[in-house]
Amino acid sequence: MSSLTDQTASELLERMRSGDVSAEQIAAACLDRIARHDPAVGAFLRVGGDEALAAAADVDRRRRGGQAVGLLGGLPVAVKDLICVRGQVTTCGSRMLANFVPPYDATVVERLRAADGVLLGKTNLDEFGMGGSTENSAFHPTRNPWDLERIPGGSSGGAAACVAARMAPLSLGTDTGGSIRQPSALCGVVGLKPTYGRVSRFGLVAFASSLDQIGPLARTAEDAALLLEAIAGHDPRDSTSAPAPVPPYSQTVRQPLSGLRLGRVREHYGEGLDEQLAAATEQALDVYRSLGAQIRDVSLPHSRYAIATYYIIAPCEASSNLARYDGAHYGHRTDERQMRADLRQEQRRLEAAGDTAGVDQLDTPLVRLYRQSRAEGFGAEVKRRIMLGTYALSAGYYDAYYLKALKTRRLIRGDYDQAFAEVDLIVGPCTPTAAFPLGAKLNDPLAMYLGDLYTVGTNLAGLAGISIPCGATREGWPIGLHLQAPAFEEDRLLRAAYMFQQVTAWHQRRPDLP
Ligand code: GLN
Repeated sequence: MSSLTDQTASELLERMRSGDVSAEQIAAACLDRIARHDPAVGAFLRVGGDEALAAAADVDRRRRGGQAVGLLGGLPVAVKDLICVRGQVTTCGSRMLANFVPPYDATVVERLRAADGVLLGKTNLDEFGMGGSTENSAFHPTRNPWDLERIPGGSSGGAAACVAARMAPLSLGTDTGGSIRQPSALCGVVGLKPTYGRVSRFGLVAFASSLDQIGPLARTAEDAALLLEAIAGHDPRDSTSAPAPVPPYSQTVRQPLSGLRLGRVREHYGEGLDEQLAAATEQALDVYRSLGAQIRDVSLPHSRYAIATYYIIAPCEASSNLARYDGAHYGHRTDERQMRADLRQEQRRLEAAGDTAGVDQLDTPLVRLYRQSRAEGFGAEVKRRIMLGTYALSAGYYDAYYLKALKTRRLIRGDYDQAFAEVDLIVGPCTPTAAFPLGAKLNDPLAMYLGDLYTVGTNLAGLAGISIPCGATREGWPIGLHLQAPAFEEDRLLRAAYMFQQVTAWHQRRPDLP
């Protein structure tokens, strides 16, 4: 029999229900695997070993006593470190928040606990979710379990790597422009970005508030369905969360869809798409044909503006959201005594030189506190986004950049509306290439941004998307298939993913860790 960590969440749940294995044994098996392999992978920023074992033992006690247990019934779940967990350091991958301890749980964390999920630890990410490789973490990069010299994708790289490496059966990530789906594709797991408003953002540290969503990563569609069901639904503490009812995804996921019409996006097969990924996508379409689906060509004509639009809107919102980190209220504060001493010294030097204009221009201590705290606390990519966003929002440029991006966003949304009048789901590659070597794009932000080509449209239009394993390159690196659905049709995505997994084995491949 395969080891506990090889089994899917649904299989483990079944075994716990039949009394064959305990939640505590499962948590212990995950912790053991983390201890063995995470030093090489670096998926976690913190592991809550004792708390996880205690929470699991509590579920076991209640189950043994014949009491009701929640939907997740003692399954371990890893949480991206951009999501607040009460009393536990939540860093957002940033030096700025290296010691930040939230006084409350995010709504998704409350729901995990209520569903008897066992919190395993916090996973690594690109600082504040900004990046596509997890190399922008202030602490350490995460490595791809399929090849430790390659990136796992990002920004939820830790979330995807820990599931691929069998350290956790389930994890929560966040997706602003692809950060759940892209690392899922590159690590060979299932990752779903819910519709904007499907899952509460309360307690999710904001990157770009009109785009951010929390969603599940898992190894199968059933498992993703289970986790989504546990976290979805209206929350009075997030006014953008939708009051729409949540379908019982974990039950409906096994129902096949008939008469499925899939849209193949013409614009997605252009320049930049690796031929191996193009071929894998075509083969996946053949699989769907064999399942009775019809494939039609659809067009998203404005998708060629998606990257430009996203990289205006996301930095604008980020520059505004990140203004709160000023060294006075939240997070890192520069060494104040040293700062004041430096300031006095600068003043004396200017006075000695008779430079009165220089003295007049000197920072006040408060301004210097802001400047210096932010300079020390933020990494290079975050600073780049803050500068881009601040520029695009400033007087004179607002109309030319921000307003124009908002208009383009509306056109992109309109393209999807038209396409979804003809098809049920849009299908294509999730990423233009498979996992690339660490460091390959670190000094070329634009190349890194282009990796988001196929995923940012979903966020700009507020829709739902999923990546599922659909192939491998000659070298064995995973390839993801991207399915997009109209708003609030996560159920359709999950069922289509389940159908695919019934006749393919890509989701069963596992990386060999030394
Ligand atoms: N890679 C994209 C970015 O850097 C998306 C990030 C995300 O979805 N959080 O902004």
